[in-house]
Amino acid sequence: MQRIYLDANATTPVLPEVFDAMRPFWQEAFGNPSSAHHSGQRTRSAVEHARASVARLLNCAAKEIVFTSGGTESDNLALSGILQPYLDRHEPVHLITTQIEHHAVLYAAEALEKRGIEVTYLTPTRDGIVDPAAFEAELRPHTRLVSVMFANNETGAIQPIGKLARIARAHNSAILFHADAVQAAAKLPLDLTLDLKNIDLLAISGHKMYAPQGTGVLFVRTGVHLAPLFHGGPHERQRRAGTENVPGIVALGCASELALNWQLETGNSKLVPPNSSSATIAALRDRLESGLLAAIPGTQINGSTTHRAPNTTNLRLDGVDAESLLIALDMQGIAASFGAACQSGATEPSHVLLAMGLSPTEARSSLRLSLSRLTTADEIDRALQIIPAAVARLRSHVS
Ligand code: PLP
Repeated sequence: MQRIYLDANATTPVLPEVFDAMRPFWQEAFGNPSSAHHSGQRTRSAVEHARASVARLLNCAAKEIVFTSGGTESDNLALSGILQPYLDRHEPVHLITTQIEHHAVLYAAEALEKRGIEVTYLTPTRDGIVDPAAFEAELRPHTRLVSVMFANNETGAIQPIGKLARIARAHNSAILFHADAVQAAAKLPLDLTLDLKNIDLLAISGHKMYAPQGTGVLFVRTGVHLAPLFHGGPHERQRRAGTENVPGIVALGCASELALNWQLETGNSKLVPPNSSSATIAALRDRLESGLLAAIPGTQINGSTTHRAPNTTNLRLDGVDAESLLIALDMQGIAASFGAACQSGATEPSHVLLAMGLSPTEARSSLRLSLSRLTTADEIDRALQIIPAAVARLRSHVS
């Protein structure tokens, strides 16, 4: 059976170029980048080369890049790193975030709330987007941090983070803005000088952009002071102690160079799959989505269709239990999901869809399909045969 992978928001494959770039750093070039000898200096220079590559993708300074173990650590470092000093000084402080964040932000906020930080969780519109006016109304004199994601991992909905950060900055220059851009990297342009110039912290994760799992970055704008999560050596300019994951960092640097090239090639957010010269990921996603809407009665799209990551669709299939559908699809070779990968197997409906106003039954009947750069038109055509038939079978069992 030829499997069809439609779960790229859970993780992406490591691209061959990325694998080749990291390969020497497992055996040949294994030195500790903190060692003064030749072997250490070779890996030090590879780490700094990768840092420069990530900085070019984000259009920021290399010293503003902190390598971490992934999106979860970057988000926790941003929230805790900014807010912990207020707790230490017993100063009242307010954080604004949203109900649709990934658990890496949501649970970090909840943990800080238990320790005395005031937190506002904004409710999105039915489209899954945060309303700037509703955001502005929640700003308080002691608001010091805002954390809003760039693109949602379940619906792909793109948040107006540039606008929100501008509003926050105009309200009070002491407010810092963190953006979880894990689902935006390698899908949408990430230029921290233009619309995103008021963003102070930004998280990305290697395994959502064709580098391996367990690699990530936190951008920390010059002048922003961060209390470290880990205590140890002076790595990453005292912001993240621990010997660097050299192969992973090299891979992330290479993946950033590829992402920047794709961005430059297309001049916008539409990414061209290597094996299809004309179709974009967005065009393949749209073909899949419109094909499913036409073939499966009682199907609706969850979330915005105008402000959306180009590779994601989230579909509500009336009367279908998404978990049963996922099992049926897996047996037929299709990998899909009904929300965050870490929610798979969970009986709770998606917190993102509930926050958007869906009922628990509607949330439980929703399916996420997310394409990668390796998805082909042929795979989409085969998925368009398999998914409607699987839905029809499930519905016939229920009735
Ligand atoms: N933030 C978002 C929006 C995500 O989708 C994910 C992973 O799914 C994370 C954070 C966590 O990233 P990581 O898996 O690298 O810890």
